[in-house]
Amino acid sequence: MPSSPSPALPCVRVLATGGTIAGAQTGGSRGYQAGAFSIDALVAAVPQLATLAQLEVEQVAAIGSQDMDEAVWRRLAERTAAALADPAVHGVVITHGTDTMEETGYFLNLVVRSEKPVVLVGAMRPATEISADGPMNLYNAVAVAAHPAARARGVLIVANDEIHFAREVAKTNTTQLGTFKSTQRGLAGLVNAGRLHLYAPPARRHTAESEFILGPDTVLPRVSIVYAYAGMGRELIDAAVQSGAHGLVVAGVGDGNLPATALAACADAVRRGVAVVRSSRTGGGVVERDIEIDDDRLGLIVAEELNPQKARVLLMLGLTRTADPRALQEMFFSY
Ligand code: GLU
Repeated sequence: MPSSPSPALPCVRVLATGGTIAGAQTGGSRGYQAGAFSIDALVAAVPQLATLAQLEVEQVAAIGSQDMDEAVWRRLAERTAAALADPAVHGVVITHGTDTMEETGYFLNLVVRSEKPVVLVGAMRPATEISADGPMNLYNAVAVAAHPAARARGVLIVANDEIHFAREVAKTNTTQLGTFKSTQRGLAGLVNAGRLHLYAPPARRHTAESEFILGPDTVLPRVSIVYAYAGMGRELIDAAVQSGAHGLVVAGVGDGNLPATALAACADAVRRGVAVVRSSRTGGGVVERDIEIDDDRLGLIVAEELNPQKARVLLMLGLTRTADPRALQEMFFSY
């Protein structure tokens, strides 16, 4: 479905948070500082953006996304909602570091109540690097956010000429440009120098159809992730519970499995009222209920298709609604 924007240019608001797309190298070294350039500088570096949309820019944060946290998520959700509530705004682009972009994207996918396009974008190379990928990624992200057909598809992530659903995408490589993959249900589409080719819409609930409400008084409970391994004991699970976690996501081996000792610690955690989700460290597939572990008897929840870091996001929001493991399980089947 190749197409281009209408002659009357839509308004796109760009919310900046930092990341490598705004990164600057210092003194000719390979090292760089994320978030060094302002959003005004990034936009000024791509004059072709003026052919796609009227841009409004807002600097929400200036951090590497390894420092992204719930406080910035809340602010970003609030600024995104404010932008989308403006009838003049067609869509939002969020510049963001790539390390935790998938978590921020999925969080917004669950709390932003709008069908207007929300597109996260970053870069793998800092803005001062040879053949920096940020300018084309930004151009493509604005093209997606400005396009009417990008509505009602949930939060999207644009990188390396691809459009991903925030729910599906994962960062899979430390440094290479093609790091983002959507291996499970596939791409949302392609975007070639601003020309969109959209595939099927997402099957799961998102944005305007989400039940999650993030109000100023909403408390996001502490949810920890524990990584499983051969010979794992129970100490990390016990430590998470003792430190006050209301929820626990285990990045289990294979189909979300755990050694018997660690599983016993999970069962104890459930008895103490902690919601425990079994996800997988494999990076693909579906964690199924009641295969080698009796989830029904132990009161455990499976992450189904979500990776551990996204399972944590859904569990945090789910726990704002209910502590019932069966109701939480239904959320993992729905979102
Ligand atoms: N740590 C940086 C960040 O996530 C580097 C990753 C990037 O932006 O590409 O912000």
